[in-house]
Amino acid sequence: MSSSTEADHNHLPVSDAAGARRAAFRLIRLERPAFIRILVLNVLVTVAGLTGPWLLGRIINDVESHGGVGHIDRLAFLILLSAVLQLVLTRYARYLGSRFGERLSAHIREEFLDRVLDLRPAVVEHLVTGDLAARGSGDVNTVTTSMRNAVPDILMAALQAGFVVVAVFVVNPLLGACGVIGLLGLLWATRWYLRRARSAYAALSAANSVLAEVLVSTVQGARTVEALGLQARRLEASDEAIERSRRGRLRTLTLRTVLYPTIDISYVLPIVGVLLVGGALYDHKMISLGAVVTSALYLRQLAGPLETMQIWIDQLQTSAASFARLEGLGELPRSQPSATVVPTDDRIVVNDVHFAYVDGHEVLRGVDLEVRQGERLAVVGPSGAGKSTLGRLLAGIEHTDTGSVTVGGVAVSDLSPEQLRRHIILVTQEHHVFNASVRDNLLLSRPRAADAELLAALGAVGADWAHELPDGLDTRVGPQGHRLDSAQAQQLALSRVVLADPHTVILDEATALLDPTTARNTERALSAVLEGRTVLAIAHRLHTAHDADRVAVMEGGRLTELGTHDALVANARAYARLWNSWHGEQPPPPGRDRSAPGGRDQGLCVK
Ligand code: ATP
Repeated sequence: MSSSTEADHNHLPVSDAAGARRAAFRLIRLERPAFIRILVLNVLVTVAGLTGPWLLGRIINDVESHGGVGHIDRLAFLILLSAVLQLVLTRYARYLGSRFGERLSAHIREEFLDRVLDLRPAVVEHLVTGDLAARGSGDVNTVTTSMRNAVPDILMAALQAGFVVVAVFVVNPLLGACGVIGLLGLLWATRWYLRRARSAYAALSAANSVLAEVLVSTVQGARTVEALGLQARRLEASDEAIERSRRGRLRTLTLRTVLYPTIDISYVLPIVGVLLVGGALYDHKMISLGAVVTSALYLRQLAGPLETMQIWIDQLQTSAASFARLEGLGELPRSQPSATVVPTDDRIVVNDVHFAYVDGHEVLRGVDLEVRQGERLAVVGPSGAGKSTLGRLLAGIEHTDTGSVTVGGVAVSDLSPEQLRRHIILVTQEHHVFNASVRDNLLLSRPRAADAELLAALGAVGADWAHELPDGLDTRVGPQGHRLDSAQAQQLALSRVVLADPHTVILDEATALLDPTTARNTERALSAVLEGRTVLAIAHRLHTAHDADRVAVMEGGRLTELGTHDALVANARAYARLWNSWHGEQPPPPGRDRSAPGGRDQGLCVK
């Protein structure tokens, strides 16, 4: 594949520190007015909190200088007032902070969903699903919890701490210096911690993802594991993943055991320093008693913000690592934005296409093909010749390395998925029933379709069962709703094709794995879908080729023959050899049957 992201090597990218920082600022900018309101409110809360100790210092000085009782009462009343004001402002600041956090959380969830939905299908197929699931659940939860709780609290704590230190300097610069010196240990420990924490928490997140991946793949492949006797190996892989995760936890725990005691001591040291130095200065009549008490009380107020930081710093580091992992998804190749160009007609042209899934191993080597409007074209060839890959390129799932695939003169890679599905749709044996109502399942392919159109589409593929559903189109289907069997699920998928109404349908083993009865029902539905459309059938049975208007033969990534069945048989090359060897063993097919071009006839498999 041409993209060179880490996803190609089964690792989802993780954003670097600068990228994560930029993303955080981008998020905050989305809520800039709320952010400014929160800042202003928190400044007011802090100022209200600083007023109390300052007034208390004034009271002490007044008492010392035998000031009037009335004045002291007024000051005491003001202390009460500032406390009430602080309480009210804090409540409002918290309310705004939580709203702000909720809104950021919503942005993060929406962005994650948008990014995953906007990934190119080929990229999604190559992704490590366990890691993606871990990011979508664990990482999103961690980040959003922080946004709701930690971010507003830490914002408030940082502002308070800054203001407290400035306030002590204003009261007395010498005492301010004592406070700052007392805090040096905390600054050192925080710096020491932060330098190591990012990589430690990133390693822990990665280890947890690996653990999730190992567990998910073991559970999903339980039958295979059992059948091949791989239990011991899977257990070993699980033990390794658990051990890596344990070591990651231990490392982050070690970091916390240095940081937390330092924070605890840091409450006390500045106060002790201020009391000692302040006491000595007071003895020498260089400072008032009120100023010493005010400074000590201010520094005592540091306890709140420091405790908050102690509570949240761990969570914040985990969230930073999770946020970098979520942002990393933004580095994966996304679907091309909708091009302004519009295909002029329904002509599909493949021009000198080269393609490799893995660099240096070309799977398609210079394929040229023009699909005629309304024709039934069968693509045959040995297994691994590149037939399915050609189908995936035509359907825009993979993008060419060199050469072009165009529809109506526009490269399919320049069309958005919505545009492309109005032109070409690939039908495979894979189909998905979304956990939603029948209506929602169908509206996916034509969002504004009326109920009558949905019912007509279901009718066209013979999905009569839809009329017997308990709540009609509102019936919830999927794993948690009304269960549909394979044939019904395939019919639902085919109804989506009818609604999308593409001019070209590519069939790749659409019915190959179904049991005979289901396959027969599905083929009936399929023939209704194909009516009046161009069909490119990747054929694994020669009947399909015999019944088609033209046959394309692929060998080793090249298109080696192209023509009608009769012409190719007359050519006496690879197709004729295949046909003759099959013809020798089987009675010839009874005339042209165009009802099941992807069909499951019981003839020779070309594979
Ligand atoms: P079959 O009839 O068996 O389905 P095919 O003719 O359709 O074969 P493709 O499925 O297109 O062939 O595969 C062509 C080559 O590309 C094969 O060698 C296959 O192993 C390889 N290939 C297919 N899908 C991938 C993938 N996702 N990643 C890497 N290689 C791939």
